[in-house]
Amino acid sequence: MNTPEYTSYAPPPPRWESLKKEIKEAAQTLGIDDIGFTTAEPFLFLKNLLQEHRDKGYDSGFEEPDLDKRTIPALREGEAKSIIAIAVAYPSKMDNPPKSEPGERRGILARSAWGRDYHLVLREALERLEAFIRQRVPDAVMESMVDTGVLVDRAVAERAGIGFSGKNCAVISPKWGSWIYLGEMITNIPFPPDTPVTEGCGTCTKCIDACPTGALVGPGELNAQACISYLTQTKGFLDETYMAKIGNRLYGCDTCQIVCPHNRGKNWNHHEELLPDPEQAKPLLLPILDLSNREFKEKFGSSAAAWRGKKPIQRNAVIALGNFKDASAVPKLSEVLLRDPRPELRGAAAWALGAIGGEAALAAVELALESEQDEEVAGRLGRAKSRLAGPIDP
Ligand code: SF4
Ligand code: SF4
Repeated sequence: MNTPEYTSYAPPPPRWESLKKEIKEAAQTLGIDDIGFTTAEPFLFLKNLLQEHRDKGYDSGFEEPDLDKRTIPALREGEAKSIIAIAVAYPSKMDNPPKSEPGERRGILARSAWGRDYHLVLREALERLEAFIRQRVPDAVMESMVDTGVLVDRAVAERAGIGFSGKNCAVISPKWGSWIYLGEMITNIPFPPDTPVTEGCGTCTKCIDACPTGALVGPGELNAQACISYLTQTKGFLDETYMAKIGNRLYGCDTCQIVCPHNRGKNWNHHEELLPDPEQAKPLLLPILDLSNREFKEKFGSSAAAWRGKKPIQRNAVIALGNFKDASAVPKLSEVLLRDPRPELRGAAAWALGAIGGEAALAAVELALESEQDEEVAGRLGRAKSRLAGPIDP
């Protein structure tokens, strides 16, 4: 009798382990740069932290209000067994950025708003991943999420081994740094989990030290109400103390990522659709103030920066012009102050004219004071007038 020949006594890899391996091997072809797996266990430790954060008034207001939804992974149908976290890397540098010059000042969009809206990029990557899994497991239940504020992306990515949570509140991948978009998918497939990254920030505090507004109130603790990234996305009046700190940022803020040593030399330009259009990512400020809704859509509609509409970007452009202290912007800012129907824009123009200074700015502020009906704007005009009539700003 012949004995069968065995080359190995190792058991075949269980089904889900081998599917996971197959997915990891295919990730790049699906447009995914990093992929990790974790269980669908609740993020219990997180619920208390989120509650504390809320109690301190640090939430941005854009979050999902139900903390259970944010910390307990669930599927609408079927039992959640695991979560797949994905990361797509994006550029941190622009080739040949246009220069901001006197009379032609420019604003800047955060890198997360360069190129095509990342929500679409991630959603499509997750759809390709779903299709890949569906081909192999036709009855799998899968629910993908991109920036819905439901599950906490960072906690999922961290537990799935994509990276560690930095003191700047970003997930930092050992390979990609923090220039990554995160998305996730909950499924009823019980994939075996990956191990979290053990690296960390160590004694570094560069991001906390560099934050212009002190919004990083502790390691990994962000007061969104003071964070420029959040402030640039609000629609109302901005506190005047923050306006000087916004600089020329039209949307978002990258300072705490730029200074991070883990991002040194990291620039990812292999996704063509994420490459910045320099005229969109670093646009001239004055023309922004004349954009109609249709023109705004044409210019910024493809970017993640457009999600709050035209007003915040225009208000931030007014603030940026004030921060440049470029007198050539005074006629346009005076026009905004005297004619714009939106109080938030007039209030910002009052501050910007006060920051630029000069006789023409003072004349515009005095003229506006004669007819301004909005109490908040009138208050800002009063402060701008005192500033303009007082000693010259350094
Ligand atoms: Fe500070 Fe800007 Fe980072 Fe917000 S995004 S924490 S304002 S450095
Ligand atoms: Fe951590 Fe330093 Fe990077 Fe901040 S700058 S996230 S402290 S490594």
